[in-house]
Amino acid sequence: MIKIRIIFVLIFLSVFIMLVYFVKAVQEKNFTTEAQMPQETNKDSLVINKSEQEWQSCLTPEQYRVLRAKGTEAPFTGKYYHFDKKGIYTCAACGNKLFSSENKFDSGTGWPRFWEIFDKGSVVTERDTSHGMTRTEVMCAKCGSHLGHVFEDGPPPTGLRYCINSIALNFE
Ligand SMILES: [Zn+2]
Repeated sequence: MIKIRIIFVLIFLSVFIMLVYFVKAVQEKNFTTEAQMPQETNKDSLVINKSEQEWQSCLTPEQYRVLRAKGTEAPFTGKYYHFDKKGIYTCAACGNKLFSSENKFDSGTGWPRFWEIFDKGSVVTERDTSHGMTRTEVMCAKCGSHLGHVFEDGPPPTGLRYCINSIALNFE
């Protein structure tokens, strides 16, 4: 009987240890996904600080509506939606390097999608609660212009989906 009890206790202990490790692994995984989200905006760190009047004079009305007034272009209409050339996507307002064609994917929802940014400091993000939704807004880290939103349902390895307006981008 004692032997059976000891075996029972050992099985219980090993299951308990496995459970602790499993919970730890899940927590670490969640933490990693969060850590990959770009930093929240610090507007003081913007390199380019133009007045809205200056922006209006150097952007087209539609570019201004999206980039500066946080608008969204109509789905399936953007010039980079069906576009698979190899190169770098830059900010249409300031030329900052934002995304690489290597990290672009087609999710079939009407806007260019990327699963990774060009460089750690390419974009900044901010919580956006407009239109009755809670989303994460993506902005150019250099000039603060609105680019689109980032969602946590993208493909591996980042699990992120940057949904970006074509009109906010140039290609080189
Ligand atoms: Zn920019």
